[in-house]
Amino acid sequence: MSETNTDSQRTATETETVDVCIVGAGPAGLTAGIFTARAGLDTVILQSGEPILRRNAHLENFPGFPAGVSARLLLDMMEDQADRNDCERRERTVTRVTETDDHLLVDTEENDAFRTPYVICTSWADTAYLSEIDDLGLTKRGSKTYIDVEDDGSTGVDGLYAAGRIAGEPHQTIVAAGDGARVALTVIHDSDVPFYHDWVVPENYFTGRGRDVPPGCEEIDDEERKQREEESLAVMQEYFRERHPDAPTQHPSVEDSN
Ligand SMILES: Cc1cc2nc3c(=O)[nH]c(=O)nc-3n(C[C@H](O)[C@H](O)[C@H](O)COP(=O)(O)OP(=O)(O)OC[C@H]3O[C@@H](n4cnc5c(N)ncnc54)[C@H](O)[C@@H]3O)c2cc1C
Repeated sequence: MSETNTDSQRTATETETVDVCIVGAGPAGLTAGIFTARAGLDTVILQSGEPILRRNAHLENFPGFPAGVSARLLLDMMEDQADRNDCERRERTVTRVTETDDHLLVDTEENDAFRTPYVICTSWADTAYLSEIDDLGLTKRGSKTYIDVEDDGSTGVDGLYAAGRIAGEPHQTIVAAGDGARVALTVIHDSDVPFYHDWVVPENYFTGRGRDVPPGCEEIDDEERKQREEESLAVMQEYFRERHPDAPTQHPSVEDSN
């Protein structure tokens, strides 16, 4: 939903209303988005610059890839999965988050804004856009700043959550992704979405025992299962047909030797 902004104090030309706004599209942000969107929450992921994982040479500790995987390929596949699950991904630099009576406002450098009850910050290593939020705990360690969170990813500020490296999680891709999922589940729990598992199960798994299919779960018959598996095989074969064209991004302080 879009509306023209009439608040003279703000510079955004247009304000969109969304259920969840995620800042950052690395492993934590993309995974959080996949989870909230699959729960039926209208989700936008805002991304500025590239995720730090693009610097990795070959990713060898992400489960499910016995010989490792190109980190750039993994990110492409995560983005595709977010898109397929109806996340809206936008290239935006978030400049400010502010609190109003009943929601949060997310302003961007590109001059638009998002009005939302839930913001998930996954923006390693940027917290500058949170400077106007009173009562947000931040911890400085060396040159880095982390957002203080409870075990479930909440921050003590209504509607504001953090996940991944910026929430002080260890510096591994699977941990950031898992934390994104966990914090998304907190948001889903805190929203009006009914109790939620997000399981796809064989036909009769619940109903064959006289139970309703729980919210967020799906029973599929054999025909549908085979169709989905075939589609997944085709998609993955396409992804793994040849090497990813992009080389790792070098650390900015390393001189170009070419
Ligand atoms: C050289 C290198 C090699 C690595 N190798 C491995 C490895 O082999 N195995 C492993 O498990 N892990 C590895 N890692 C670590 C892994 O990449 C990180 O732990 C993980 O990517 C953290 O995920 P994240 O989603 O928390 O943050 P990120 O992936 O950094 O995502 C944060 C995103 O937020 C965006 N953002 C920041 N500020 C804003 C803003 N204001 N507005 C909008 N967007 C914003 C950033 O551009 C970024 O895309 C490596 C890291 C590096 C640097």
